[in-house]
Amino acid sequence: MLDTARSLITRAGQRLGLDQETINKLIEIDKEHAFEIQLDDGQMFDAYRIQHSNRRGPYKGGIRFHPNVDLDEVRALATLMSFKTAAVGLPLGGGKGGISVDPKKLSDQQLEELSRKYVRHLQTNIGPDKDVPAPDVNTNPQIIDWMVDEYEQLTGDKTKASFTGKSLDRGGSLGRDSATGRGGVIALQELLKYLGLDKQPIRIAIQGFGNVGSFFATVGANEHPNWKLVAVSDSAATLVSEDGLNADDLAKYKLKRKSFADYQADGVEVLAATEIISRDVDVLVLAALEDAINENNARVVNAKIILELANGPVSETAFDYLNEKNTVIVPDIIANSGGVIVSYLEWVQNKNGQHWPEDRVNRELTNYMVKACDALFKTADAKNVSLKEAAFINAIQNLLK
Ligand code: NAD
Repeated sequence: MLDTARSLITRAGQRLGLDQETINKLIEIDKEHAFEIQLDDGQMFDAYRIQHSNRRGPYKGGIRFHPNVDLDEVRALATLMSFKTAAVGLPLGGGKGGISVDPKKLSDQQLEELSRKYVRHLQTNIGPDKDVPAPDVNTNPQIIDWMVDEYEQLTGDKTKASFTGKSLDRGGSLGRDSATGRGGVIALQELLKYLGLDKQPIRIAIQGFGNVGSFFATVGANEHPNWKLVAVSDSAATLVSEDGLNADDLAKYKLKRKSFADYQADGVEVLAATEIISRDVDVLVLAALEDAINENNARVVNAKIILELANGPVSETAFDYLNEKNTVIVPDIIANSGGVIVSYLEWVQNKNGQHWPEDRVNRELTNYMVKACDALFKTADAKNVSLKEAAFINAIQNLLK
């Protein structure tokens, strides 16, 4: 993933005629914090905070709790964050954190101790104007609330602008939970307009029905009656219905933590999880994991449009193959930027002691997304490049301003 991120930056930099030294500076990481956290019971965990670039503002990026977290993964995700915030025009930089841990194996008490110790270690390197972390995979508002509380106790900062993704009564923003899915809906609608397809029936398949996939489905169903959801998947199964699946029902089903493998409804077929990739649809939404489409399955993809809501869901080799076939791929740094946009809006509210109504948050989110998509299509047309390359070109131009 790190190599892919760096080669995307290099390709876009070369397209802009930048010299290698300038490209290397864009790739270079500002600061790396790699340390160990020991719990009172003796368990040790590797922990990281990578601060890639603060050229445009404080470092910004989530903290991931996952057994596969390692230095290179966090470096790649931190790098992508700097390009994401730049591509959508936010006055923020890029960073990422992580702890190599399986949080399911810890009690709530151990999880709280781990979260607080993470902040204790980093306290002088983070803060509202330095580095503003957020949740990522397996971290949630509860974990962020513990971290904010620890930061407040250590530094006396009362703004709550030290982290975003807080719970609502602890300074979180309305609209943050749905932001990434909603942003994906806006990005897809802007693409359909650009392609002249926005008035036509659009058949959609979604891989992954967690936070991002389910909000994409429910917001999309609500706002675009011409979109029909014909397939969804989780890690266990794919559900298919040519008559259309009900997004709200599926979201409620998933909130009960049930698997699609056990789903039963008239006219709904239950297939293997891998089947989602080859569905013959207009749009395939990837909202699960990185490398979901790779060299082994790229050839079975039938969708004409792919929306990358996960980070890095199409591998570099698969991208080159699909791009050659003229599959339109809306790149992750634009398609899933709704999350960081509303994180930014949360930070602005905290710094100004405000709490905005949800419609204001959604309106501001829409403005950022529409502007970023417009710039994306203009660059792709002007330079005759893929949307992915155009996104990185726009990000580089904003980073060098
Ligand atoms: P989540 O944990 O809520 O949901 C992930 C979903 O993917 C679950 O339904 C899981 O069952 C499913 N899944 C896992 N493996 C799968 C497989 N092989 N096939 C099909 N489905 C599979 O996570 P999320 O917050 O929805 O995030 C999804 C992706 O979006 C992640 O890559 C994350 O990094 C990225 N992302 C999330 C946000 C955000 O705001 N939550 C922002 C930007 C990017």
